[in-house]
Amino acid sequence: MAEQTGGETLAFQAEVTKLLQIVANSLYSRKEVFLRELISNASDACDRLRYEAITNPALAADDTEFKVVLTPDAKARTLTIADNGIGMSRQDLVDNLGTIARSGSAAFAEQLAKTKGDGAKDKGGDDVALIGQFGVGFYSAFIVADKVEVTSRRAGSAEAWRWTSDGKGSFTIAAAERARRGTTIVLHLRKDQAEFAEEHRLREVVKAHSDHIGLPVKLATEKAEETLNSASALWMRAKKEVTAEQYKEFYQHVAHAFDEPWLTIHTRAEGRLEYVTLLFVPTTRPPDLFHVERKASVRLYVRRVFVTDHAEGLLPSYLRFLRGVVDTEDIALNVSREMLQHDPVLARIGSAIVTKVLSELEKKAEKDAEAYAKFWDAFGAVLKEGIYEDIGRREQLLKLARFRTVAPEARVPRDAGDKVISLADYVGRMKDKQDAIYYITGEDAAALKSSPHLEGFLARGYEVLLLSDAVDEFWIPSVGMFEGKRFVSVAQGAASLGPAPETDKMDAVDAGELAVLLALLKQGLGTRVKDVRVSDRLTDSAVCLVADEHDMPRHLARMLKAQGQMKDGVASILEVNPHHALIRTLVAVAKNPTQRTQLDDVGRLLLDQAMIREGDPPADPADFARRLSDVMTRALGAK
Ligand code: ADP
Ligand code: MG
Repeated sequence: MAEQTGGETLAFQAEVTKLLQIVANSLYSRKEVFLRELISNASDACDRLRYEAITNPALAADDTEFKVVLTPDAKARTLTIADNGIGMSRQDLVDNLGTIARSGSAAFAEQLAKTKGDGAKDKGGDDVALIGQFGVGFYSAFIVADKVEVTSRRAGSAEAWRWTSDGKGSFTIAAAERARRGTTIVLHLRKDQAEFAEEHRLREVVKAHSDHIGLPVKLATEKAEETLNSASALWMRAKKEVTAEQYKEFYQHVAHAFDEPWLTIHTRAEGRLEYVTLLFVPTTRPPDLFHVERKASVRLYVRRVFVTDHAEGLLPSYLRFLRGVVDTEDIALNVSREMLQHDPVLARIGSAIVTKVLSELEKKAEKDAEAYAKFWDAFGAVLKEGIYEDIGRREQLLKLARFRTVAPEARVPRDAGDKVISLADYVGRMKDKQDAIYYITGEDAAALKSSPHLEGFLARGYEVLLLSDAVDEFWIPSVGMFEGKRFVSVAQGAASLGPAPETDKMDAVDAGELAVLLALLKQGLGTRVKDVRVSDRLTDSAVCLVADEHDMPRHLARMLKAQGQMKDGVASILEVNPHHALIRTLVAVAKNPTQRTQLDDVGRLLLDQAMIREGDPPADPADFARRLSDVMTRALGAK
């Protein structure tokens, strides 16, 4: 490779610079991951060429023995990593190694921007944990190198280009030479990283982190090339030949993750459909799980040839937390990726895999409820999408669902309060004659627990499901019933619960006088409410807001508003608790024509109070403050 001078200097995308600062400064404890990342890129590049060569054999030409070669040079303190994969054009180099292309890294940068303004140097453990979650791919080279040179020649092209950077804000692109297609990366190791120019260290790291890579990783020594890894696709090996450690390494490689797999599913189907799956459920939630595309992240291979990272049409998006590989014998490779993804055989394989995965989840749920609860915390919100998207498996998915609940102390001891339960558990411990499954929806399960809407239900001994995932607003109405019991929101429609055990002995306020108060409040509130009425729902609070039976749930309306999909909410019903001291006082006020005028202010304050209890700001904060001051002044001044 003749050295060429000159070239063009370009700036990194701002996020890359931030990422690089943090990578170089805080990933020290895991520095050897750089090799795994670079080897995995080389392997991906070979996979991509192999696939393109099916329709265009000239691309692979005479050089079909794919491999990655590591050449350490202890004297020069460099490590060279070369592959004969697809290579990169000039534009590829600029795009792939100058911006953040990977969704994982993009999410990382997003997170970074949210948590702190600048990616400064003095950041401690937080960043390490963050990077741990996201993985940084190519840029991890700068953990060990203070200068990186990438020389690449795209398959089918005669040009080669060299990308050079010290990882500090910019990189240079210059014309170069390379005898054949592929990519060569030279790492100029930092002074304290000389170990990565040592043969024994490379043997060790490759064995530990890249053993499962499907193509040979070779070490170029003075005499020969020595293969360091097993170089066979891990998923094709028999289960008993794979150790837990190897599964974990493979998972971390395909998922770009640092956590442990929570569940590993390795199966081989033979017969009508022939395919191998090696799938993992992660322990922690990957960052891109709730991106709008809801992309699947399972890698599809056809007879060991890599086809795509995001096999559409294979698995439903409610299983998008799965990572790993599906390799099949049953599909023709000489069709386009798009055609392939719509192959009915792929859908049949996918369906068989869904069956397997759900049954494995069922087993885990039965065997180890505590571990399953952790899984549910991380991925339940995704799995629940299947309840309305996959009608055929609805029953099975409902069985897998877990819920936090709030229950009257007398029936479920407090220490059980934070455990999640299944719907069957709920139904199993329902009160005699209870004919509905009660639930409440909102943003935050802990806040829901103190919702006024629950009071009357708890007082009467009912347990209530706390639903705090956005998706709950969608599956509940599509399901409607479980084991013959209707789902009923405690914050919607009329709650005809009958008198609560401890209130029925109390003096009731005069019905006629109460009606006068309600009418006056309603008049004062005008179109701000749909109605003002008495409620069985409340025992401690004075008021609450509920949606009318057939109106949109208030939580759903709030979500749509937050997303800008809806402008004005639907007017709700203000319910009042006739046993509450304040309401009793107001009944007296309503009787007195000279005092009545105060009810307009009080009504507005009650409405605002009900909104605040739900976590909403008052409709007009300035107005709220003024009314509150006025009412307090009058009340305190009167004394
Ligand atoms: P990822 O591998 O997840 O896409 P990386 O940061 O590891 O993210 O790499 C970024 C991109 O750079 C890759 O997607 C690929 O397009 C390109 N790339 C990196 N290394 C190579 C290589 N050895 N050969 C060809 N392309 C490469
Ligand atoms: Mg990579």
